Amino acid sequence: MNQSIRLDSMSSLSDNRLIRQIESLRGKEQKVLAGILRHLVEIERRRLYLPRGYSSLFEFCTQHLKYSRSSAGRRVAAARSLARFPVLEGYLLNGEVNLYALSLVSGILTEDNIEQVISGIRNRSTSEVESLVARHRPGRIVRDRVRTVCVMEPETRKRGKERDDTAAAGSTSAWNTGGANSAGRAGSTPGAGSRKLPDPVVEGSGSNTLERVRISRKYKLEFAVDPEFMRKFKRTKTLLSNRYPGGIGFEELFMLLMDEYIDRHSPEGRAARREKRHAHKSDQDRDPTREIGSVKARLVSNGEGEIRSRNIPQRVRDEVFLRDGGKCTFIGSDGRRCESRWNLQIDHILPFARGGDNSPGNLRLLCGKHNRLEAERVYGSPHMERFRKKE
Ligand SMILES: [Zn+2]
Repeated sequence: MNQSIRLDSMSSLSDNRLIRQIESLRGKEQKVLAGILRHLVEIERRRLYLPRGYSSLFEFCTQHLKYSRSSAGRRVAAARSLARFPVLEGYLLNGEVNLYALSLVSGILTEDNIEQVISGIRNRSTSEVESLVARHRPGRIVRDRVRTVCVMEPETRKRGKERDDTAAAGSTSAWNTGGANSAGRAGSTPGAGSRKLPDPVVEGSGSNTLERVRISRKYKLEFAVDPEFMRKFKRTKTLLSNRYPGGIGFEELFMLLMDEYIDRHSPEGRAARREKRHAHKSDQDRDPTREIGSVKARLVSNGEGEIRSRNIPQRVRDEVFLRDGGKCTFIGSDGRRCESRWNLQIDHILPFARGGDNSPGNLRLLCGKHNRLEAERVYGSPHMERFRKKE
């Protein structure tokens, strides 16, 4: 390095001098880089990392040489390109090929394509190099990847959950759930639903603020998916839109799906369900009024001695959903049907409170916004305001 360059002297340099100096440094950087790669090639050939306690050249680079994982990965891959095809070093030194390109092509280089690859990466942009590699090896660019990251967040931040705003008028409910009691369904495996906060790693003060921050360890996943995945992904989010009208984050969504799978397929999940069924059954055997009592709690009398239930059986919900095509059935004043699939709710056409029943003929799908509009039409805005304030 040029010892004469000091940060505090930079401001006095002329524009031309500044540019000339960085060009000169860049040239030196390329020489140093080529030297590093040459050393890595030889260290790998001698496997010198092994007796020093590292299992790979990569580990040697991250732990001994203190490179970041991505920097180490690029250097190791590029070194392997140079080891097989030393001719590439010249292009690195004259700046026609950069480190990233050398690392990318390491997986596709062969004796047969070396000439073709060189012409495909010399003086080419990063995206041109990436598409060259993608043509040779589809899927190479975006590999499955897990990284550890630290996330700082204000200590005082409230981790508020999305409120479930279904059934605002009391006469409706989400089409695919049994109402509010379904919210905890996915967490029935012991411990499965109880990991809202990641492990705190360090606590300290934010550098620019007096507010204390919590630093959490998180993981960053990266993977490429097919259109079929995206179709199912959107479908799942739509199905969940009753519980998460504001949308659901990737982490929460995958957590929910995994909880459901673990609950269903793990030995402990199955055992917990068996135990629950067993306990339920022996309760019924011991005290037959108990179950009736709990059903009664969900029933209301219509004042004429007749008992009705607000709960619409899932079978009926599904029937209404399929009949209405899984879309909001609201028809606007100009005859346009809404057709939203977001936050669908089952609406009683003749409201339940006014004697409407749970037969499919009295039920229809409405999106949350149109359900609210209908409720305002039926009950009036002041009545609906009361519900909103409670939320
Ligand atoms: Zn709608």
